[in-house]
Amino acid sequence: MVQGYCVRCKKNVEMKDPKESKTKKGTKIAKGKCPNCGTTVCRMGGIPATEMKKAA
Ligand SMILES: [Zn+2]
Repeated sequence: MVQGYCVRCKKNVEMKDPKESKTKKGTKIAKGKCPNCGTTVCRMGGIPATEMKKAA
């Protein structure tokens, strides 16, 4: 699973439907939704390689 920090729940949550993206600076990030409140959750560094393998 890919975890990210939800600002609304104020804790780390498991991202729903995580997708890898990049910021304007070229930093890899993972973006998903909080399963509890639906807020967009981000994680710096993108999706871990181990998680990418599972998804494929
Ligand atoms: Zn949340």
